[in-house]
Amino acid sequence: MRKIDTIYINGRFVQPHGTEVAPLFNPTTEEQIGTVRLGNERDVDDAVSAAKAAFAGLAQSSKTDRVAMLHGLHEAVSARAGDLTDAMREEYGAPASFIGFSVPHAATAFLHMAETLKSYQFRRRIGHADVEMRPAGIAAAITPWNSNYGFICSKLATAIAAGTTIVIKPSEMSAIQTQLITECLHAAGLPDGVFNIVNGYGHVAGAALSAHRDIAKISFTGSTATGRAIFQAASMTMKRVTLELGGKSPTIILHDADLDLVIPQVLAAGFANSGQACIAGTRILAPASRLDEINERLTAAVSAIKVGDTRDPTVGVGPMVSQKQWDRVQSYIHLGQQEGAEMIVGGEGRPEGLGRGWFVRPTVFSRVNNDMRIAREEIFGPVLCVIPYRDEVHAVEIANDTVYGLQAYVFSADVDRAKRVAEQIEAGRVVINGAPHEPLAPFGGFKQSGMGREFGEYGLESFLEPRAVLS
Ligand code: NAD
Repeated sequence: MRKIDTIYINGRFVQPHGTEVAPLFNPTTEEQIGTVRLGNERDVDDAVSAAKAAFAGLAQSSKTDRVAMLHGLHEAVSARAGDLTDAMREEYGAPASFIGFSVPHAATAFLHMAETLKSYQFRRRIGHADVEMRPAGIAAAITPWNSNYGFICSKLATAIAAGTTIVIKPSEMSAIQTQLITECLHAAGLPDGVFNIVNGYGHVAGAALSAHRDIAKISFTGSTATGRAIFQAASMTMKRVTLELGGKSPTIILHDADLDLVIPQVLAAGFANSGQACIAGTRILAPASRLDEINERLTAAVSAIKVGDTRDPTVGVGPMVSQKQWDRVQSYIHLGQQEGAEMIVGGEGRPEGLGRGWFVRPTVFSRVNNDMRIAREEIFGPVLCVIPYRDEVHAVEIANDTVYGLQAYVFSADVDRAKRVAEQIEAGRVVINGAPHEPLAPFGGFKQSGMGREFGEYGLESFLEPRAVLS
C-alpha cells in the first residue's frame, strides 16, 4: 500500500496543510493500492508564493541556461523510464503501445522545447518598434489522468523555455505517477520554486489556482466542462488560458481506401489508449457503398483484439481508469442500443473470462446517425460509431457537424485527394493515412475542443506576452 503524503513546493517534498485523503486503485484488479493526502487552498498559496519568489531569476535567465535546464530534465526523466512504465501500468493500466509512446514522449518534450527555444527570436524590430516577447507571468498547469507524465512534462518544458515559473496540479487519480515524475524532476536540480506540484481535488486546488490573483497564465488539459469553469474563473483577472479539451474526432475512409491497410489504423486511432484519448477517432465515416464490407472487417478485427492485463504486450485494450469511468462507458453502450444503432461487435458487461477489473468490451455501432448522442458526446472508452456517407461533400459535412474540433483522420489511396478533404475539416490537426505525431507542430482544438495551441513555437508563444517599445 503506497502512502503519498507530500506535495512539492520550493524544491522540497513537504506535508500539505490539506488533510483530506483519497484512495488510489489498480484498475486491472480494482484493488486499492494506496492513498494520497491532498493539498488545499493554503497549499496552493504556498506554491504560488514559491513560484513568485523564483520568477525574477528565471525570467532573467539566458537561453543557454534554460536549454541546460531542459536537457537536465530530459536526462532525469529518461533515467527512470523503467519505474515510470511500471507505475503507469499499475495505476492506469494503459496498453503497451500507449506506454511505449508516453514515457519517451514525456522525456523528449524537454528536448523538443529546447530545440524550439534555440531558434526562437524573442526580440524583433517591427517598423520603428522594438518588440520583445516577455514571460507572461507565473503559470499554472492543471492536468488529467489519461497521460499524466506527458502533460506535466510538456507544460513544464514550455514554461521554462518562456522563463515562467509554474505551479502544477495533476489529476488526484494519478498520484503514484505524479510522485514518481516529481522525484525525477527534482533530481534535475533546478532552482527552488521554478516548478511546484500540488496534488488536490479540482474543485479545491484547481479552483484556487484558476482564481488566484498572482497566476497570469493557465494551461489546462481535461474535459470541456472543466475547461469552461476554469475559463470563467480565469476571466476575473484576465488570465491567459490555453485549454486542451475533449473531442469526437472523425475518421474519414474515402472510397478508394485499401481496407487491408486502413482498418487496423482506423482501430488504432479509435481505441488509442483503450479509447481514453482526447484524440481518439471515434466517428468512423464510411462510404455507404462499402458499408457492409467495412462492417464485416471491423467486426472481425475488433473480435480479435485482446482485452486484459496490459502486462501482456499483446493486449490491445486495457481497463477503464475507474469504476465511474466503467459505469459511464456502460451507460453509452446501453444508450447506443436504445437509440437504434446497430451493434456489430461488443456489448455491455465485462469481456468473457475477465471477472474483475474495469474492463469493457470494445464495441462498434454501425448505421449510426450523426444526431444520436453516441455520435455527439465524448464517451472516453473503446466505443466507436460507423456513420455512412453518400459522397465526399456529405462526409465533410458530417465530419464538421460536431461541437468539437480537436483532431481528424483521413484515409485514401490518393494523398492529394486526402489533402483536399483535410483542408475542409474544422479541426486543429488532420492526420492523413496514419502519419506519425509531429512534436513541433501546433496541437489544440477548434470550437469546444479548446483554445490556443501547445508544442513548438505556437506553444511557447502562449506563455509569452509581447511588449513594443517605440522610438
Ligand atoms: P477533468 O476535466 O475531470 O479533470 C482534469 C483536471 O482538472 C484534473 O486535474 C481535475 O482535478 C481538474 N479539475 C476538475 N474540476 C476542476 C475545477 N472546477 N477547477 C479547476 N480544476 C478542476 O478531466 P479528466 O477526466 O481528468 O480527463 C479526461 C478529459 O480530458 C476528457 O474529456 C478528454 O478529452 C480530455 N483530454 C483532452 C486532451 C487534449 O489535449 N485536448 C488530452 C487528454 C484529455
